Amino acid sequence: MNLVTGKVALVTGASRGIGRAIALRFAQEGANVAFTYLSSVEKGEALEAELAQFGITAKGYRSDASDHKAAEELVTQVLADFGRLDILINNAGITRDGLLMRMTEEQWDTVITINLKSVFNLTKAAIKPMMKAKSGSIINLTSVVGLRGNAGQANYAASKAGIIGFTKSVALELGSRNIRSNAIAPGFIETEMTGELNEKAIEEWKQSIPLKRGGQPDEVADACLFLASDLSRYITGQVLQVDGGMLT
Ligand code: NAP
Repeated sequence: MNLVTGKVALVTGASRGIGRAIALRFAQEGANVAFTYLSSVEKGEALEAELAQFGITAKGYRSDASDHKAAEELVTQVLADFGRLDILINNAGITRDGLLMRMTEEQWDTVITINLKSVFNLTKAAIKPMMKAKSGSIINLTSVVGLRGNAGQANYAASKAGIIGFTKSVALELGSRNIRSNAIAPGFIETEMTGELNEKAIEEWKQSIPLKRGGQPDEVADACLFLASDLSRYITGQVLQVDGGMLT
């Protein structure tokens, strides 16, 4: 069953990790995929070619999700290139960890701007064509850290908790236009982002997870596919945890 055949999906931050897995999964399911990257130019260009092998239309754009004007221009360009926009996946995100005592204003501002403002930027631009089409699915990547907090990640936790409030507000505002807005809260997923942690910390995380292992990017991509497709047509304003039972 091809769940999103012919739909156009825009995924931010798809050069690596979870975003890359989402782009691949959607292409595999017949969606046309527009995606962004920022610093990983070679990886972004390679992904475009990889996605095209699924026989769909794929295009990568170098675009900073935290830049409001760039986000507007990106959506305009995607509409010019693809003709429509059905699914928006706000995935781009970063960490700049540190205990609050030592956290700088710059660490705070960078994380809030890249993780949270980016979601506002892209969603604001994407809802215009979605409202016209009277249809759309928006999926925002939050985190279990946004639900319960985490020592050393006050900036990241605040950005991810902010995404949840934003997601629910958009669901309330745009439900009557048949635009759904949901969030996915991954737990510990094995990507470059979590690869920065030391081995002891990783082992402790794994032991605290009921399924006793870290998750894989494609396991988040599968949840994303569900929320993007008609399988979830009566679901909006929700946060779906993909965390092996970490936060129960
Ligand atoms: P990752 O491997 O570090 O990849 C992050 C991606 O975001 C990269 O493709 C990067 O592109 C892109 N990006 C960063 N800043 C950007 C910007 N300003 N504009 C556009 N793209 C930007 O991260 P990940 O582990 O896949 O995480 C993906 C999302 O899931 C994030 O929102 C993260 O917070 C969330 N999440 C992850 C985990 C986990 O355990 N891994 C858990 C919970 C939530 P370039 O390399 O090209 O700059």
